[in-house]
Amino acid sequence: MCTFSTEDDYLKLLSKQLSEELDKKRYIHTIGVAYTATSLAMAHGTDLYKAYLAGLLHDNAKCISSEKKRKLCKKHGIVLNEAEEKNPDLLHAKLGAVRAKEKYQVTDEAVLNAIKYHTTGKPAMTELEKIIYIADYIEPNRKMLPGLSEIRRTAFGDMDKAMILILQNTLSYLKEKDASVDLLTQETYEYYTQSENIHKSKS
Ligand code: FE
Ligand code: FE
Repeated sequence: MCTFSTEDDYLKLLSKQLSEELDKKRYIHTIGVAYTATSLAMAHGTDLYKAYLAGLLHDNAKCISSEKKRKLCKKHGIVLNEAEEKNPDLLHAKLGAVRAKEKYQVTDEAVLNAIKYHTTGKPAMTELEKIIYIADYIEPNRKMLPGLSEIRRTAFGDMDKAMILILQNTLSYLKEKDASVDLLTQETYEYYTQSENIHKSKS
């Protein structure tokens, strides 16, 4: 879809429900991600509607308590890995994809996967998956982090490069905090640094 209206009945209802479900800070972040994702989709010539929709829904499960997150995962057969056991907040991505389908009637697998992988990333991501991962990090309401201006600039030209910069920051932040790292985050970092190296050796 090339054009759409954010005042479509469905999108309007979705925004209203999210404004009630999320706390104020999270809702403001959500709108920031939806518009940043749409802008990235413009820059990279991909579907604007999918970017907006995935952006809107990416954190839909964020404001659910840890206890309820665990319960819902059990209900939906989501098995927790080590990092998720230690930090149930990570579950909002997988759970968000399930809820986007069940509660918000999203059937598009591309959108659901963009929600599912927005915290860890994964090797060989689609354009839409990268767009949501990156938009989540660079949206304008994010507090200033080292290197953020460069990442913002890079994202509109080369998303793979932006992925590496974000993953580097994320991994060193987690290391500093002595927090557990989801294996998938590490694998994603290795995948993108390796493909960057292959790229370099070819050129
Ligand atoms: Fe999130
Ligand atoms: Fe987010």
